[in-house]
Parts: sequence; C-alpha cells; structure tokens
Amino acid sequence: MPEKPKLAVYWAASCGGCEIAVVNLHEKILDVDAVMDFMFCPCLMDTKKKDILALPDGAIAVTLFNGALRTEENVEMAHLLRSKSQILIAFGSCAKGGCIPALANFTTKDELLNAVYIDSPSVDNPAAIIPSGTTSFPEGDIHLTGLLGRVKHLAQEVEVDYYIPGCPPEPHQIWNVIETILSGNLPPKGSTVGCGTLTVCDDCLRTKEEKRITAFRRNYEFYPDPKACLLEQGLLCMGIATRSGCGAPCTKANMPCTGCYGAPEGIRDQGAKMVAALGSVMDIGDTTGLSEEAIACRVADFLKTIPDYAGLFYKYTLASSTLGGRVGGN
Ligand code: SF4
Repeated sequence: MPEKPKLAVYWAASCGGCEIAVVNLHEKILDVDAVMDFMFCPCLMDTKKKDILALPDGAIAVTLFNGALRTEENVEMAHLLRSKSQILIAFGSCAKGGCIPALANFTTKDELLNAVYIDSPSVDNPAAIIPSGTTSFPEGDIHLTGLLGRVKHLAQEVEVDYYIPGCPPEPHQIWNVIETILSGNLPPKGSTVGCGTLTVCDDCLRTKEEKRITAFRRNYEFYPDPKACLLEQGLLCMGIATRSGCGAPCTKANMPCTGCYGAPEGIRDQGAKMVAALGSVMDIGDTTGLSEEAIACRVADFLKTIPDYAGLFYKYTLASSTLGGRVGGN
C-alpha cells in the first residue's frame, strides 16, 4: 500500500485555538486520516523534534504552522518545518499577521518581561528574577529558549506557500483547504485560502442602511437590535474592513466582528482601511458657522469614544501592518 502524504500541525506563539479548530473538524478528522498521515502535532501526539530532523527535506506534504514567532525556538521550528515541507501554510491569524502576541510590539522586550514577572500586582517576586537561560535543579537542567526582541509573523522568517486566516480559522474552511490540496487544484503560491475575497459585511445578514454614527458605544452599554447593522448602532464592528469567509458567526451572536480574518483581498493594511471607513461614517453634526478649532474639538470628542485604537484596529495584524509596532524596540 503506498504511503499516505504526511500532514504536520505545529504550534508556535499562540493560544491553541487553531488546534481546537482542527479538532472541531469532528468526524471529518477520520476523512483526513484516511488520506493523509497526520504525523506531527505536539499538543495531540508524541512525535518529537528529533523525528522531524530525521526526515529528508520535503518529506512532509503539508505543514499547517500556527502561531507567531515570539521565541528563538519558534524561529528554529519555522526553518526546520520549511525545509521538511512541500507546502508550508501560515495557519491562522498569529502565523499570518502576528495577532494578539504581536500587540507586544507596542512595547520593548524588557518592558514586557518587567510587566509580567516584576510589576504585575499579582506577582510576588522580591528578588526580581526573570526566567532565562539555564536553571539547574536536582532532577536536571531546564533550558529556556530566548525571547525575540519583536514578534514576527511566519513570512518574515521563511517562505510561506499559502495563508489561512482566522482566530481561529473556521473548521469548514480548513476542510475546504484540505480538499483543495488533495484535488491538486492549488491557487498560485502566496494566495490566502480558506476564505472569501470580500468583507464580512457581505456575509452578514443584518439590514444595512446609510451609516451615520454620532458616537461609539461599548458592547456592555446596551442590548443591540439583533437585526440591524451593529456599526449603525454605534458598535465598533470591524466587518467593513475584514475579509469574508467566516460566515459572520460573531454578528449572528449579536457581537461585533473583531476582524480576525484580516484585511480583505487587495487591502494592504486592515487598520488603515477601518480608519478610512470610520472617517466616512462619523457624524459630528451641523458644522455650519463653526471655526476650524470648534470642528477639531468635535472630532476629538468623537474619537474619545473609541476606547483602544491599537487593540481595535490592529488586534490581528500588527506584525504585518504598515505600522509594524514601536520603532526601535529591543
Ligand atoms: Fe454586519 Fe458589522 Fe458589516 Fe454591520 S458592519 S453589516 S454588523 S459585519
């Protein structure tokens, strides 16, 4: 019997949601197993790095690499899996754009470590020890991998063949991608797959009218009309600047889209797209007869109703954005 093509799933700096999405294929996992040798997935099975090192280059047909690159080990595994894989897919928003881990690029490595291990009110660390390097215990030494100065997305380190967006990717889209790979009808390299090309608004079934927003509101402040566009009700819904393909599950649950599928096809920077979209729907009232200063004050008051620019506009894409994060971080 011929060998089945090998499938690997690797978890770098991420929360594990992408693995949950794979498990959420439910019984289709058996279909995957019927046609592929699911041979590497550290959180599900006991294959070791040495087993991957022992493979010839290109021995793995497809690797789904999820997670951003936060540590030296993440980078080492990215290069190892790149050399061993025929097709390397950046799987999920952390691998594609840095996602939540990359929000740390708004600070420096030292500030981050201090916040986590020293300054946090819930930490009791009088000796101000920051874990690093090698620590010896009676049972043996523990080696910690080094932290990179900045979080990278996968393509900043190795060549990526395809991208699957989502935090996490929707299981039906993962299955679509697997079927596409097995069919051999692959799109051009570098394509984003397992998604649409339009925006979440195109998938969203809510009624849309002309958008004129006088102030933004937070989710907890009111119970939104379950049928009308959430953005028109003043909730900061990112659907207008987010790639389609998820099926809009968040807006179906009366929650705004947070933008996890990243920028729509042809848009370079999701945050910039959202800022431009908001600029066209902001309503600061009648400005007839107002001075420029008075108009600027109204705009400033309006913008104060946006609680967290970075976390809203770049929650999933900071590492791949034009902005990139704080310049000069170590
Ligand atoms: Fe739906 Fe949000 Fe788009 Fe409004 S802005 S149509 S709620 S996805």
